[in-house]
Amino acid sequence: MSEFGVLALQGDFREHLAALDGLGVKARMVRTLDELKAVDALVIPGGESSVIDRLTRNYGLAQPIKERIAAGMPTYGSCAGMIMLADRLENPAVTSTGEQQQTLGGIDMLVRRNAFGRQVDSFEHTLKFADHDLTAVFIRAPEAVQVGPDVAVLSTVPAPDSRAQGRIVAVRQGNLLATSFHPEVTGSRAIHEFFVNLTRGDA
Ligand code: GLN
Repeated sequence: MSEFGVLALQGDFREHLAALDGLGVKARMVRTLDELKAVDALVIPGGESSVIDRLTRNYGLAQPIKERIAAGMPTYGSCAGMIMLADRLENPAVTSTGEQQQTLGGIDMLVRRNAFGRQVDSFEHTLKFADHDLTAVFIRAPEAVQVGPDVAVLSTVPAPDSRAQGRIVAVRQGNLLATSFHPEVTGSRAIHEFFVNLTRGDA
């Protein structure tokens, strides 16, 4: 049985803890190296990816998380977490001193941050994910604009949304799972359940 952790530096980590709790999984908050060492599966929450990037580096967690990901630690990122798992960003944030936002990487994809435009900063869609229909909540959401050959596309935005139709909003590569949307803010536990099964080798 895996020990689950939720990266708890910024963003909606409490909602992920509650979502896992709803499945009977007691996850712990990860803010330090020792806490990271104590877990064998990690959730990276939604929030602001440039802040999560800066904090993970300041707290000395970025390199150790990258190493754990490379060693196969199951990791799920929602929204900003998806951005953190992207190997490449189309539009990284740049600080006033010219420093570019970095990611942890792991999933062979190019991600566009804030991909759905101003008018649709926040919207909901019913999506197919595995065998489930789920209501997905998008908040200043990213999309995967290119994925490599080892990446499985698990959900795209369905017709009839002409603005967003066909856009890639859930992917998996090996033990890594990422969604543009926030299942942790809805009642649906399908994504977290999928992730828990993935850690057990059942997905
Ligand atoms: N747009 C945010 C970012 O770039 C992500 C938004 C979210 O996690 N809801 O990090």
